[in-house]
Amino acid sequence: MIRFFVAVLGCALCCSPLVLSQQKSQAEPFTPPTKIFGFRDPGPELKAEKTFLSVPDPQLAKEHLQFLTSAPHVAGSPEDLKTAQYVLDKYKAAGLDAYIQQYKVWMNLPLDIKVEVVAPEGVTMIGPSPERVSGDPYQDDPRILPAFNEFSPSGDVTADVVYANYGRLEDFKKLQEMGVDVKDKIVIVRYGENFRGVKAYVAQQFGAAGVIIYSDPWDDGYFKGDKYPKGPWRPDTAVQRGSIQYLFRYPGDPTTPGIASVPDLPDSKRIAPESATDMPKIPTTPLSYADATPIMANLGGPETPREWQGALPFTYHVGPGPVKVHMALKQNYQFVTIFDVIGMVRGSRLPDEWVITGNHRDAWVYGAVDPNSGTAAQLEAVHGVGQLLKTGWRPKRTIVFASWDAEEEGLIGSTEFAEQHAKELSRAVAYFNMDVAVAGPDFGASSVPSLKQYLRDVAKSVPSPKGGSVYDQWKAAAEKEEQERAKPPEPESSGAPAAEPAAPVQHDVHVGNLGSGSDYTAFLQHLGVPSADIGSRGPYGVYHSAFDNFAWFTKFADPTFVYEQEMARVYGLEAMRMASADVLPFNYQDYGKEIGEYLKAAEPKAKKAFGEQTPSFGEASKAAARLEKAGAGVLQLQNATLGDPGGLNLILRNTERAFLIDGLPDRPWFKHAIYAPGEYTGYAAVVIPGVNEAIDKKDLTTMQQQLQLLTDAINRAAELLERAKKD
Ligand SMILES: [Zn+2]
Repeated sequence: MIRFFVAVLGCALCCSPLVLSQQKSQAEPFTPPTKIFGFRDPGPELKAEKTFLSVPDPQLAKEHLQFLTSAPHVAGSPEDLKTAQYVLDKYKAAGLDAYIQQYKVWMNLPLDIKVEVVAPEGVTMIGPSPERVSGDPYQDDPRILPAFNEFSPSGDVTADVVYANYGRLEDFKKLQEMGVDVKDKIVIVRYGENFRGVKAYVAQQFGAAGVIIYSDPWDDGYFKGDKYPKGPWRPDTAVQRGSIQYLFRYPGDPTTPGIASVPDLPDSKRIAPESATDMPKIPTTPLSYADATPIMANLGGPETPREWQGALPFTYHVGPGPVKVHMALKQNYQFVTIFDVIGMVRGSRLPDEWVITGNHRDAWVYGAVDPNSGTAAQLEAVHGVGQLLKTGWRPKRTIVFASWDAEEEGLIGSTEFAEQHAKELSRAVAYFNMDVAVAGPDFGASSVPSLKQYLRDVAKSVPSPKGGSVYDQWKAAAEKEEQERAKPPEPESSGAPAAEPAAPVQHDVHVGNLGSGSDYTAFLQHLGVPSADIGSRGPYGVYHSAFDNFAWFTKFADPTFVYEQEMARVYGLEAMRMASADVLPFNYQDYGKEIGEYLKAAEPKAKKAFGEQTPSFGEASKAAARLEKAGAGVLQLQNATLGDPGGLNLILRNTERAFLIDGLPDRPWFKHAIYAPGEYTGYAAVVIPGVNEAIDKKDLTTMQQQLQLLTDAINRAAELLERAKKD
């Protein structure tokens, strides 16, 4: 579901450079670091990492991907079970203690989906049209699901149409200003800028009768470049499927918020689907731009604001009408059995402390990029760990590999697992996610601030197919992007994407913040497990369509599978290094700094909203400064070379959990005081969400309460770190 949106090799004594395959012989040399933060004697770790890094194999990654994407495999289907069995076999072959965990969850498949233009006279469109291009070898499989949105209700609506740009809150407000009422209308919006569930959520709040979400060629079609099969961009008939669950309320099985949908869960423990608060109430369905064109072209009313214009070849109008659409959606809702695959490598010294590393396996159709580029890379990481196990190596802590199911529907497999194992996970060290591993060559990462430097360090220890390390290439690309950004903006941009809060504390390559849209959500935002997400991006216009398949992947994403190899190495190293560290390599100085910046950004916003009534941010800022200072003090202890690190590690492990509160206003499942998916952004993180969202709503009482809860949480974390003593 994710929107595409992150040492010391060679023996420390002999300093022999690591020889690992790199694509170009002329490439910059790769010289890995020889010290690792968290390891007092890096020698054995360096040796293990060297062995590990030599294993992931492009050819085997290709074989995994080919098998995994040989048929459409939506969650709970027989084909999905086949992929689970394949992953289970590979886990077992590597020596992991592996099993399939089933859950019984509430979800829908499309029975009959129809969208047709019924007025004005002479205009016809009966959709959704099948996805077709010339020469794609995968497009005719009868198991391909028609385009639909997961968790849309069934419904039959005929109404005039209104265009609402990206379906953001500000877009609907703009329509109001223009005097265009969306009540009882069918709203058509384009994909992009926010999570599709947010589009349905806002449309529902404004009284719309139905929603059509289409892919405008501006955002990932011909306006970006050649379309598939000539280029990587979205062809006319390709549709973006996807969930519109209100996952910013809670993800997972709608009928079991907070508890696990194990197969024998009594019905009395479930809530009725009708009373679930994370399912939209108005029928919503996606369209291709081929099908959307006759609708968009026949809208009357005023011209849209200029920045609402997409790339279809006519001037956009907002309506309402005269174009009228009939939507008839029949969804098949039922309890479905889904299949997570779990593989454990038991830790030699601290087996109760888990390092969890996950990727989802289910796909809307074939899912070559999303998610099976991640599954193939994960299986090669498992392969590497398996080779290490054969040499007698064991991690100090337990590594848990997870192949999640039903991520696409609403992060379901990972959420149910996290809810089931909340007790064990209270001792977990970290969760490492990878969803879209390879859509192209550009590495990127997001994480909690305490892990940002760790991710950069891991990237320094892995060679890039372009030469140098993954870190070198990542940094070079970031610097280039920075220069591009410094240029004056081009006129008529599609509206800047919701800017991430500035983090000027970074003087190094940018690591993003975790919002939602993939499987780290339950670990971080429900349970407080420090989390990270990595991926590698590129031009990718076939997201959630039938064309995200093996043919597209081998032509555009990674023809030689060297980026698959790279991601297998980064992903595996991330987990094994954390699992064997003497001292946990978290940086809480960075965390304190970042929170300080979030507060600095929020205060002027609050003053604008509340004027003289604005409560003081002084105590909160003091708490952030205290955390930064305590974090700096602990970093010195982490770098000390002597003493038993047990007490220190316990503190480091628990600090993230100090940020947990009873729940955010109106969404008690989300318990993290620093990060949550935005109610109105969905994918993008809202930082210090309790405070920022209360400011946005101009709710002074809630804002005061949330600022106090936040201050207490930061102080709890600081106090914990202050207890760390030199042993
Ligand atoms: Zn995905």
